[in-house]
Amino acid sequence: MAKIFCVANQKGGVGKTTTAVNLAAGLAQLDQRVLLVDLDPQGNATMGAGINKSELETSVYEVLLGMSDVKTACKTSESGKFDILPANRELAGAEVEMVELDHRETRLKQAIAEVSADYDFVLIDCPPALSMLTLNGLCAAHGVIIPMQCEYYALEGLSDLVNTIKKVHAKLNTDLKIIGLLRVMFDPRMTLSQQVSAQLEQHFGDKVFKTIIPRNVRLAEAPSYGMPGVVFDPSSKGAQAYIAFGAEMVERIHSM
Ligand code: ADP
Ligand code: MG
Repeated sequence: MAKIFCVANQKGGVGKTTTAVNLAAGLAQLDQRVLLVDLDPQGNATMGAGINKSELETSVYEVLLGMSDVKTACKTSESGKFDILPANRELAGAEVEMVELDHRETRLKQAIAEVSADYDFVLIDCPPALSMLTLNGLCAAHGVIIPMQCEYYALEGLSDLVNTIKKVHAKLNTDLKIIGLLRVMFDPRMTLSQQVSAQLEQHFGDKVFKTIIPRNVRLAEAPSYGMPGVVFDPSSKGAQAYIAFGAEMVERIHSM
């Protein structure tokens, strides 16, 4: 059965999608079977996997509303190495439409359960809000990966996310854990980055992943070619870091 992880942080632009897409590609390179779920109406993970979001016949929207199953709606990423359950703007409507449905927090969980045996990892790219969509992600997952930048305001907002995760754990999903904080867009030349990074290690101990993702322009360029950075330029520092992070995740799930 697949291990299921949400990439979540209610802030936008902190590297969630870059992490989800490149971890998917990194794990695929390590021969893991991966399904990437795009749970953000912006559809950035979909585009980053090389799928045109404006040409989707079925997407995660239909899956959440019970009009399609995951197998029908999912596609093979352009690189051919992992599967993606895509999203586009239509998904924004699901938020409202799900209000009337039973078990609205666990619809994604139920849908993924049907394909869980086909994958080693399911990665869920969450939108930048603690919304019903993110709640569906958290209810479906065994753990949360929280990408963060090592800057002055990094910890602000983290407590809201941690409290949400605690509530979901208590009321809806006792499996849910914080797997770890991932330092992303890291610039080792900045003293502040070093300081915040050290503070994170002090406060959160082994909840901070060993792998650090550097700021690397190849990771930022890759989506415009419809590829994860790991596929676009495998030898770049950013790609290498995400492959190392994949290996760290494989190690972690063996001890889960
Ligand atoms: P989120 O999904 O949290 O909104 P994104 O993954 O889309 O964040 O990242 C925000 C922006 O930062 C994007 O333009 C992305 O290309 C860029 N970016 C993310 N990680 C890196 C990195 N390690 N190095 C350079 N640019 C990055
Ligand atoms: Mg995103």
